[in-house]
Amino acid sequence: MSFRNISKEAMAGTVTLGVVLLVGYLFGKKKSSRMSISKSHCGGKDDPLMQYVLNNSLREHPVLKKLRLRTMDHCWNIMMVACEQSQLMANLAKLIKTKKALEIGVYTGYNTLSIALTLPDDGVLVACDISEEYTNIGKPFWAEAGVEDKIDLRIQPALKTLDDLLSDGQAETFDFVFIDADKVNYDNYYEKSLQLLRKGGIIAVDNVLWGGKVLNPAPGDEDTVAIDKLNKKLHRDARVNLSMLTVGDGLTLAIKL
Ligand code: SAM
Ligand code: CA
Repeated sequence: MSFRNISKEAMAGTVTLGVVLLVGYLFGKKKSSRMSISKSHCGGKDDPLMQYVLNNSLREHPVLKKLRLRTMDHCWNIMMVACEQSQLMANLAKLIKTKKALEIGVYTGYNTLSIALTLPDDGVLVACDISEEYTNIGKPFWAEAGVEDKIDLRIQPALKTLDDLLSDGQAETFDFVFIDADKVNYDNYYEKSLQLLRKGGIIAVDNVLWGGKVLNPAPGDEDTVAIDKLNKKLHRDARVNLSMLTVGDGLTLAIKL
């Protein structure tokens, strides 16, 4: 059918529908950005029980909160860790008296800051990312919280940083590792992190449920396949004790034996 055959009424109807959809889209966008600033990345926005959990357990450092709100303005804010999950990892890191931590995938550094805040004066967190742009967002907040000197940020592929640490003789010296960068390298990150970790140390692997996609990994979906493969490998891995938690997008804790 050519455009000339379309009646004026149909054309007017189409234009009206277009305007309505555009207004709806813009309104929805504005509304959702407001919602995300107030609540996002603190779990179950629309779940009253989850809100109860957060209202009665989240203890967010004021600078962490500022960094979260700043991150919510960024187009990739979906990448930020859930704050209740970050608090859990900070508590675990503290529990095992972490002095040396490693974060693989920093983004704006919310979790980097959360862990750094738990470190003793002589503690260090080696933070791996390839993006100056993302990590530059977090740096002023690390400074404001007074922990910038504890964060050793290395901007290069994380595999290179892990190899550097190993060849620098730092095997078996790390207490806590958080793996949260490109999913296709998850197994490589896990193997190298396990070498860097001391006995009794913890590797936390993020996004192990990958929004539920792990239930049915499509063969061409490299990220899901890589996560599912590592999940299955860890289940059988006698080198670690294991727990897979449903917090956030799924978090596996592997404790080195
Ligand atoms: N852990 C962060 C947090 O708590 O908010 C979120 C990390 S985000 C999901 C993933 C990050 O991995 C991005 O900042 C990205 O630049 C980084 N990344 C992707 N590929 C990488 C690589 N090969 N080496 C190091 N970092 C990488
Ligand atoms: Ca993640």
